[in-house]
Amino acid sequence: MSIEAKNLCKKYGKQLAVNALNFTVETGQIVGFLGPNGAGKSTTIKMLVGLIKPSSGEAFLAGKAVDSESWEFKKNIGYLAEDNPLYTDMYVKEFLEFIADIQKIPQEIQSKRIQEVIELTGLIKEQHKKINTLSKGYQQRVGIAQAILHNPSILILDEPTSGLDPNQMEDIRSLIQSLKTGRTILFSSHILSEVEAICDRLLLINHGKLEADCSMEEAKGFPGGLSQFFQEKTKAKA
Ligand code: ADP
Repeated sequence: MSIEAKNLCKKYGKQLAVNALNFTVETGQIVGFLGPNGAGKSTTIKMLVGLIKPSSGEAFLAGKAVDSESWEFKKNIGYLAEDNPLYTDMYVKEFLEFIADIQKIPQEIQSKRIQEVIELTGLIKEQHKKINTLSKGYQQRVGIAQAILHNPSILILDEPTSGLDPNQMEDIRSLIQSLKTGRTILFSSHILSEVEAICDRLLLINHGKLEADCSMEEAKGFPGGLSQFFQEKTKAKA
């Protein structure tokens, strides 16, 4: 299922945080949404998942306009917010049962699906632990588990590796890659190497504007390589 932004704009007061974004992400791609802090990544993502309304323009998922009221629309999306809100007093499995109810996963398949997702996200040993006893890397796994529980075809992850140590980053990257089959994944990051490691394509945003929409290969072929590409596209405009 595709993700599409059409002239998407968001103003906070006088500040244009997202400025006429146009892009399409097709099924089966992992696309990196790259940009420095404050570039407008989270704001864009919140519009794509229907958490905030655009000031103008529209977002489409699977060809349908984003409608935050519609259950059909929500069924297709898995979302991990930047701050990964979890009920940290809950046990891992208990939390996933709670999310399964919210996602209206039928009772008869709930426990099988929860077990599948626990295995997929590498949480077998942690399932009976309290979330607040887990490392940040394992808490991110729980965040990803809740995002994929209802088996959405679109997965949108806001800075999923931010604040992790290098080993944890690597684990979460592999996990995200393992979720690619049959899914469309949009993954935001302000770290170039993160996007380089896992994405087929990148969208680069700076000051709310799309500065690049290209394959990873094209970006690497930029004179001076990928880091020069990033610097060039994110440098302050006179
Ligand atoms: P990123 O995710 O790329 O770090 P954000 O989308 O969070 O960027 O922010 C883009 C810009 O919009 C920043 O200048 C930020 O300060 C501003 N901003 C974000 N959220 C709000 C808000 N709720 N109210 C006012 N300004 C905001």
